[in-house]
Amino acid sequence: MRPLLLGLLSILCPLAFTVATAAQPNIVIILADDLGYGDLGCYGHPIIRTPNLDKMAAEGARFTQFYVAAEVCTPSRASILTGRYPIRSGMAHNQFRVLRSISTGGLPASEITIAQALKAQGYATGMVGKWHLGVWTNNPEHHPLKHGFDFHFGLPHSNDMNPSPGNPVKAGSRVDQDAAWWNAPLFRGYELIDPKADQTQLTRRYTEEAQKFISTNKAKPFFLYFAHTFPHTPLFASDRFKGKSTRGIYGDVVEELDWSVGEIFKTLKEQGVADNTLVVFTSDNGPWLLMGTETGGSAGLLRDGKGSTWEGGMRVPGIFWMPGKIKPTVERNVASTLDLFPTLIRLAGGETPKDRPMDGVDLSGLLFKGEPIEREVFCYYRGEQLYAARLGAWKIHLITQAGYGEKPVTHEKPLLYNLEVDPSENHEISAAHPENVARVLAAVEKHRATVTPVRSQLIDVVAK
Ligand code: MG
Repeated sequence: MRPLLLGLLSILCPLAFTVATAAQPNIVIILADDLGYGDLGCYGHPIIRTPNLDKMAAEGARFTQFYVAAEVCTPSRASILTGRYPIRSGMAHNQFRVLRSISTGGLPASEITIAQALKAQGYATGMVGKWHLGVWTNNPEHHPLKHGFDFHFGLPHSNDMNPSPGNPVKAGSRVDQDAAWWNAPLFRGYELIDPKADQTQLTRRYTEEAQKFISTNKAKPFFLYFAHTFPHTPLFASDRFKGKSTRGIYGDVVEELDWSVGEIFKTLKEQGVADNTLVVFTSDNGPWLLMGTETGGSAGLLRDGKGSTWEGGMRVPGIFWMPGKIKPTVERNVASTLDLFPTLIRLAGGETPKDRPMDGVDLSGLLFKGEPIEREVFCYYRGEQLYAARLGAWKIHLITQAGYGEKPVTHEKPLLYNLEVDPSENHEISAAHPENVARVLAAVEKHRATVTPVRSQLIDVVAK
């Protein structure tokens, strides 16, 4: 069939018509939750041991300026799967910030996920781990199986959202966690298989399911979205890892995550598909500094953490691995999780939707051929408000606020930082470079003109 006809057919009936070809790579996205820019050995952590991720980075492209499109879980995950700023899908809110266990909203059916787009290209699609894009027990339309995934195993939301009666105050930040303090409802598809899953076993159980998904689907192109529950607090590690790191329970949990990454690579190799699989590792937002030194992570040289539009909240580890296709490199170009959608769809032989604004850039030329990428402005939203923007090396802040606890400060004259010279955002230099403030502001106005406000999905909750 000619490409034009194929394209036309896939537009007319995108979900029914499949165009799988042997050249399509398998795709695995591994997402950590609240893992900071500075928490891995390959990103400079002095004592946490992450040999599998370090090896992945050494063999692949390790990005030093990789971003998520939001500073907390729900909006960040929405943007990963849709390739769009969360403001466009209503998956952001200034006050609520993330979906709660009582929320009835979720990712709208009108959004196209990476899973749906890859399924239309003939991919088997699986999701393991934390969803946080809608609680399907409140509204079944928000289940991953309704958003393009054929297979699902995991929790509907964060592991701290369903405390047991008698849960101690501020239990999330405690190092002496007791599994009995939390209900973690574990589902396989729509079936609740464990209403109070033992969180010390979650990473292992997720990993086994991910391995099974790979083995079962190795004959087709497959897409696995593997979204870990940790190191979001409360922190739990299995006996094999608990007490083994020299960075306390936080290190134990990250080292178990790293073990899990190693198991995925082992399975890809054993099943003979490693040479045709792109693996991406990243985190949904920066470290939860509010949790303190014992259970919060590290943003390394970056300022602030989760919840903030300072760099530490939104710049995260970003590693791309595909042997023989991606050369070992430290990649210094700016990239983001918004870029995953256009990049992955291109690799699968499909096209990015044309009927809506998409916010990412296709990274395939950069990853496979070292070609330059053309990127316009990158916007840092907190909830529904645009707080900051980056163009080239220059970042302006229109509003600043620490991740938690502080009131926002609006800057009539935007603050300016040169992120290549000053990644820690210590030196405000707008007075010396007004022309760069003006350039970034003009780019922001161009972006704003593309945004149509929609009602937030994070407001509505189940009736009492
Ligand atoms: Mg998170």
